[in-house]
Amino acid sequence: NKDVLVIGAGGVASVTLHKMAMNPDMFTGRICVASRTLAKCEAIAREVKSRTGVEIETYEVDANDVDATVALIETVQPALLVNLALPYQDLDLMAACLRTGVHYLDTANYEPPNEAKFEYSHQWKLHDQFVQAGLMATLGVGFDPGVTSIFAAYVRKHHLSGIRLIDILDCNGGDHGHAFATNFNPEINIREVTADVRHWENGGWVTSPAMSTSVSFDFEAVGPKNMYLMYHEELESLVTHFPEIERARFWMTFGDAYINHVTVLQNVGMTGIEPVEYQGHKIVPLQFLKAVLPNPGDLGERTKGKTNIGDIITGPAKDGSGEKTFYIKNICDHEDCYREVGSQAVSYTTGVPAFIGAALMLNGTWSGAGVFNTEQLDPDPFMELLNQHGLPWTVTELSAPADF
Ligand code: NDP
Repeated sequence: NKDVLVIGAGGVASVTLHKMAMNPDMFTGRICVASRTLAKCEAIAREVKSRTGVEIETYEVDANDVDATVALIETVQPALLVNLALPYQDLDLMAACLRTGVHYLDTANYEPPNEAKFEYSHQWKLHDQFVQAGLMATLGVGFDPGVTSIFAAYVRKHHLSGIRLIDILDCNGGDHGHAFATNFNPEINIREVTADVRHWENGGWVTSPAMSTSVSFDFEAVGPKNMYLMYHEELESLVTHFPEIERARFWMTFGDAYINHVTVLQNVGMTGIEPVEYQGHKIVPLQFLKAVLPNPGDLGERTKGKTNIGDIITGPAKDGSGEKTFYIKNICDHEDCYREVGSQAVSYTTGVPAFIGAALMLNGTWSGAGVFNTEQLDPDPFMELLNQHGLPWTVTELSAPADF
């Protein structure tokens, strides 16, 4: 059975579904999509059909209703479920996969709707159940998390015998022309950037306030940008699976206008995730904010510029020649992505890895029973497919470790 069921019909799902349809040699079975709003599934199916001629089956499901998802899986009978809905659906979809004997892949770790903690504990707890069921769950197969961890595994496999220092640098040099908009789901994006910062240093987490540490970095193909120290979920899995890591940090670029808007919104309480009473209704400020912001899916048409995401990694060289530092990265062009699949680069750089991960699970190249993060799996076949399917990467040796 090579049939695949994608859950969610947002920006990322659209890219993944296009790529699946564009590669019938890799996706030889049926391609199905189910989401909360059937019309969004149908719109993607129409676009995919017009670009590729491939038919996608569409279904409606509330992924937080485990019984409904189980019924859907029993109807569709896929070999693999690809979760491209929101982090709030992860545990319910994993439960449905366990009940029906289907493999699982996602791009973001589970988050309880009323907390913004970004931790893997909830999903790692299911490891034994996936082992017992003989099923594979691969977590965080987007760009970051996802490719950034596979980059680390690749450098550790081919260049270094271990990782001492790792800095993940995420730069979006794109301009969409709006005063303020987020490049993916605004609720998830704003939760991330307003959360306390944590980075790993000498065996423990160091905490600092959101957006309090920044440094300018000259990104290839983009130019100098301010990047801010942030917590990001792959830090937890990387220091767990590569326990030799002394320091792990994550940096993301933001323009001054973005920072000003987030600061004001936070100061006036619009980024809150606790419901407030308004004219007899309970509303969550951040969810209301999402409703008035531009839809990230509509930014593709207007976004120009490039993304540049990669890792700077230092450790002992494999050949015993002392300590070395490598910079491994991908540069992606917003307009090229839009021409190819009708989406901007942030959705593209997430949707392509999910498509590659799904292909490797379906053909058995990535296999095993249990819950895995991407750095635990063989990076080589994935790295080869990145080069072939729109996310080419380079690895260069730097003369010294990161000096910021
Ligand atoms: P969108 O908001 O564009 O899409 C989310 C989709 O999920 C929507 O179609 C939405 O339906 C659907 N959905 C939400 N709740 C439910 C539910 N209960 N049942 C069924 N469907 C539901 O988000 P993106 O496409 O931008 O992001 C998708 C995922 O990718 C997110 O988890 C995000 O965190 C992750 N991501 C990961 C990145 C990485 O590099 N690892 C980078 C960027 C994103 P509806 O339209 O009806 O609301």
